[in-house]
Parts: sequence; C-alpha cells; structure tokens
Amino acid sequence: MSALTALNEEIARCQLCEIAKQRTRAVPGEGAENADIVFIGEAPGFNEDQQGRPFVGEAGKYLDQLLASINLDRASVFITNVIKTRPPGNRDPLPVEVTNCRQWLDRQLEIIRPQIIVTLGRHSLERFLSGKTISRAHGTAAPWNGMTCFALYHPAAALHQASLRAVIEADIRKLPGLLEQVRAAPPPPPHEETPPAQQLNMFEV
Ligand code: URA
Repeated sequence: MSALTALNEEIARCQLCEIAKQRTRAVPGEGAENADIVFIGEAPGFNEDQQGRPFVGEAGKYLDQLLASINLDRASVFITNVIKTRPPGNRDPLPVEVTNCRQWLDRQLEIIRPQIIVTLGRHSLERFLSGKTISRAHGTAAPWNGMTCFALYHPAAALHQASLRAVIEADIRKLPGLLEQVRAAPPPPPHEETPPAQQLNMFEV
C-alpha cells in the first residue's frame, strides 16, 4: 500500500471532530500521488459525503471543465479539501475543524510535494495565506513552504455568480505558464513555515 493510501485510510478513521459522528463517509481526497498540482477546496458537500470522493457534485463538474480547459484531468492532479468531513448543512468549517484537519492536509502535501497548490475559495486561501482576501488574491501566486500557492475563486461561487465565471476561467488559464515558471525557478526551500514577510510577496502570473 502506498504512503498516501495508508494516510488516506487513517484520515477516513479520524474522530477528532464532533462532525465525524454525523458523516456518511470521510473524503480524504483523490488523484495522482506524484501530482505537480494539488487543488484544495473547502469541505465536502452532500454528494461528496455520500460517495467519499471530492468535488463530485455540480461544483465538481465545473471543476472538471476548468481542468479540461487547460488539458488536465482528475487523474493527473490531486484534489482534496481543507477539512475532510462534511459540515452539517454545508455550513462554513469551524476554526477547530480546520485546526484538527491541519495535520492531515500537511501530511498529504508532504507525501505528494506538488509544485503548485491551487486554493479554491476563501477558506482554502485563508488556510495557506492567512489574511489575504480572495477578491485581491485570485489569479496570483505566492511561495508557501517550498511550494507555490495559486489562488482561485471557488468553482461553486463562479457557478452561482455569473460575473465570476469569466474571472475563474481566465485565472486557471494562467496555471500552465505558472507551472513552467516554478519548474524553471523553484520557490525557496521549505523551512518550518514560510515567514509572514515572504507570504506577503504575492506575484502576478
Ligand atoms: N466544495 C468543496 O469545497 N469541496 C468539495 O469536495 C465539493 C464542493
């Protein structure tokens, strides 16, 4: 069994949060173990809780289309969420839930070591680049712990707000160029945590 499969099984057994008692299935994430790009949403919704797979509802179908627009598919990237259990009624994740799940996401990223982490929506952005606002950060990148964070609006937000569709579709088209850029000039190597000063160093792509 691969290290990532073993970790995902551990995640699926986690009972740290109260909401674990109410879930149908945990949603650790899925995709390529050696992915260059990891997409990170907020939390599983109804369909994801039923199936134990990330982004399988309407937002997921749209994410598939966005991936296809840059010649990617689910099998070539890794897709997961900040928290691995559906919050009841699809409420926002609580800070304690994000904290409890922090170790799982960190360990997934340690195993995969992607070149780029794509944050989907404000909760995911906050988890990596605390204090940034999605309206300013979307479509830009910043170094994070030896990797590069690239911020996108959440696909569900773009589905529900027509004006954001063109924005997310233009932003994701920057991703292939960003990947080339970070391959040519990787961000600084990881230390414990990228210093806040460096986190502020958002760059245009
Ligand atoms: N929204 C998310 O943030 N994650 C999913 O897995 C599905 C919808």
